[in-house]
Amino acid sequence: MKYDVEIFLFIDALGWELVERSGFMKERLPYRRKIEMQFGYSSTAIPTILSGKTPAEHGHLGLFRFAPEASPFKALARIAPLLWPASFWNRGRVRNLLSRLVKRFYGFTGYFQLYQMPFRKLALMDYCEKRDLFAAHGMGEIENLRDLLLRSGRPFHISDWHIGDQRNFAAARQAIAEGKSFLFIYTAELDALLHQYPVLIDEAIRKKLEWYRDEIESLFAECDKFHRSLRLTVISDHGMTPLTRTADLKSAIEKTGLVFGRDYGCCYDSTLLRATFLTPEAGPAIREALRPFADCGHWLSEEEEKRYGIYRADRSFGDAIFLMDPGVQIVPSDMGLRPLNGMHGFAPEDKDSQAVIMSTDEIPPEVRHVADYFALMKQRIAE
Ligand SMILES: [Zn+2]
Repeated sequence: MKYDVEIFLFIDALGWELVERSGFMKERLPYRRKIEMQFGYSSTAIPTILSGKTPAEHGHLGLFRFAPEASPFKALARIAPLLWPASFWNRGRVRNLLSRLVKRFYGFTGYFQLYQMPFRKLALMDYCEKRDLFAAHGMGEIENLRDLLLRSGRPFHISDWHIGDQRNFAAARQAIAEGKSFLFIYTAELDALLHQYPVLIDEAIRKKLEWYRDEIESLFAECDKFHRSLRLTVISDHGMTPLTRTADLKSAIEKTGLVFGRDYGCCYDSTLLRATFLTPEAGPAIREALRPFADCGHWLSEEEEKRYGIYRADRSFGDAIFLMDPGVQIVPSDMGLRPLNGMHGFAPEDKDSQAVIMSTDEIPPEVRHVADYFALMKQRIAE
């Protein structure tokens, strides 16, 4: 073991652009590199970070997936007509409460949120994060970070993703005091702020970065207290792209007269549409319906799907995926009825999509993509 304590700190949505422009912690963490985002959302990137596998391998792309045969929500869909008027049941706070009830009812241990998924469509949808990805065997057959750490015998600490950043830093300091030697700290509050203030660099963001800096310094101070050496590496999953315009793909598709669940199925994420064609006519009709959006989005080619690690021969991510250009949000979507000031989930090549790794120590040259973090952690755990 080269260092007494090894810390990987995950900061959701800390993008390369933000780090470059703000000079965030460049003295303490001088080794830094732009990292290619995992195509998709945090719900795609987290399982990739925790296992090193691509979405094609671990099966998580969007949270919901059109899959009538696999839907666990049939009972819930039956009570959908009772949830009226829709204006009440679609309110954010009501949906949050309902999400908690549904999560408990089904015994889901993973992150669960209904967002704005229409109740009547739920019976046709599967949900991919039923299990806690951070728990032992949380990814089934695929070995995740906790499985790996348990196997290594190394005393470790993994943050509880249910709690806020402040409590997670406090728990990490406690873990150092208890003699743990490998820590994975999870933080997600910067992401929520950047969705609100994506333009570089808002005062609220500056303050939050200063807060992270202080918390990171406190980890060094805690190690110093016990005369333990520390190697700290910050990792992120993506950046944030400011809103440029919105696109109503849903109305365009509904105008075709095709029936959802009979002719086609689809999931409207914030930046991409995943479509499943159930009849021979559906594919051409939907492609035709989206032709007016050719100036702000495109259908992914098979080559792109393969390059982004999302190509599946069984087409469980949909028969075709329409990706919006950077800055363009699908509104309304299953995620929200209004656009956010900033969003992620665009093409990984876009400058605002780029994630970052930064460390007290040299970063091996092969770490280029979010999917490479796992191999680095594995290597460090074995040292
Ligand atoms: Zn986000």
